[in-house]
Amino acid sequence: FTSIYSPPRDPKFSNLLNSDMSFFESILPPHQIVKDNLEGFNTDFIGVFIGKSSLVLKPNTVNQVQDIITYCAKRKLAICPQGGNTGLVGGSVPVHDEIVLSLSNMNKLVEINESEGTVLCEAGVILEQLNSQCEEKGYIFPIDLGAKGSCFVGGNASTCAAGNRLLRYGSLHANILGLEIVTGKGEILDNLSSFRKDNTGYDLKHIFIGSEGTLGVITKLLINLPPKPKSEQLVYLGVNSFENVLKILKKSKEILGEIISAFEFQDRFSVEASIQHIQGVHDPFDAPYPFYVLIETRGSNAEHDSAKMDLLLESIIGNEAENGILPQDKRQSNDLWKLREVIMEAVAKPGYCFMYDISLKHENYYDIVEKVRNLIGEKALTVGWGHVGDGNLHLSITVPDRHDVEDIHGKLENFLFSYLKECHGSISAEHGIGLQKRNKLSISRSPAEIQFMRRIKNAFDPEGIMNPYKLFPDN
Ligand code: FAD
Repeated sequence: FTSIYSPPRDPKFSNLLNSDMSFFESILPPHQIVKDNLEGFNTDFIGVFIGKSSLVLKPNTVNQVQDIITYCAKRKLAICPQGGNTGLVGGSVPVHDEIVLSLSNMNKLVEINESEGTVLCEAGVILEQLNSQCEEKGYIFPIDLGAKGSCFVGGNASTCAAGNRLLRYGSLHANILGLEIVTGKGEILDNLSSFRKDNTGYDLKHIFIGSEGTLGVITKLLINLPPKPKSEQLVYLGVNSFENVLKILKKSKEILGEIISAFEFQDRFSVEASIQHIQGVHDPFDAPYPFYVLIETRGSNAEHDSAKMDLLLESIIGNEAENGILPQDKRQSNDLWKLREVIMEAVAKPGYCFMYDISLKHENYYDIVEKVRNLIGEKALTVGWGHVGDGNLHLSITVPDRHDVEDIHGKLENFLFSYLKECHGSISAEHGIGLQKRNKLSISRSPAEIQFMRRIKNAFDPEGIMNPYKLFPDN
């Protein structure tokens, strides 16, 4: 099955020669060069994007990254930086024979500064492991996402990952204090200032946050850490209409105020997918509901926080919400979070999965799911869920029969992107553009903006070797 996203190889890039291998062998020991069994590096998380690289380099230090990039720029060898390879838009895997530069060996936590509330670490640290280490010191990592057990913090910065708690802690633009970067020219930019206030000209790190490996490689990060909350609460609700989901969101913001940390939504189709395809996931209520809402609070005073939650529940149960569960212990709340977090995997398992990650106004948020479901009909499973608290919808269309994929692809994308254009939605809320959406960039960015982005790319990566075929449209 050939990928439906396959731009031709750019002839400006060189082919890998024996002399190139000799160079890499002169700067890296054998265990940092991988030439066999590369399926895992060439295939993305949902198995939709499949590259053909024959070489993976795993540098240990920023100087090794610099040596590799400097050489590749001179030789015009294309590079695909790779973190945990959990990205969902085809950015993390090569398209043709790009060299994979894996950050997996750069996984040191350098320092947690308990006084400042910051962490300095290398780009290959796994998010969940870093969060556990921060928790031991009384802090938490500011973002949390379903892929936390595999994704790297460098990958998070490169995609500007957002996840479940943006509502409370803000985006990575707000939390990354500094970065160390090797540009596509092979220059090291050390921007690891720990100051919250530092208005000294252009703040270059922000250009790299969300740049998807197209400008250079992030090697180190300095990140702000919020204190570990003293009180946490969760409530899981069954809801009869999407209109009521929105009413509950409004009331939650009013009544819970600053302690609300997540407001997640799932439709019944997504819950069924999780129950059917993931072991250990169970229906939360005796009866099904068309919609479900998970609300989390994180605060500093359990008594105050539970008084606020009681007020909210008194107001919504039997009105906007049909049913609710207040978990009694950590295990029960983990089970409810799991129901939400495994959806990506559950919808990707039973077929070819088109996954979209979009931002929409409330009036369009679930309308688009219903319209896509009507358009595609029974040949696919159309599912909607996401971070409704910040307007971010995940929409997936799983096609069990591969013969239907091309036909559905055309129909689906014509409709979806016209809809987004008309209602001024964003084609990427948090996953990025990658290979999947590069030719749709003009829906969310003006020609002038794309022109400036190309100039920025040219300044940091004049040979265009960094993650080619990604982010930028053909023309
Ligand atoms: P990769 O997938 O390896 O790479 C992603 C992109 O960043 C690629 O373009 C790659 O070239 C580039 N890159 C990686 N590391 C570097 C580096 N050090 N320097 C330069 N470029 C680099 N995303 C969200 O935002 N919110 C969610 O809630 C969310 N939930 C998810 C749940 C599941 C189950 C899965 C599978 C994915 C989810 N994602 C989510 C998407 C994904 O996890 C994020 O995009 C994540 O930030 C990717 O990190 P990674 O280390 O896996 O990066």
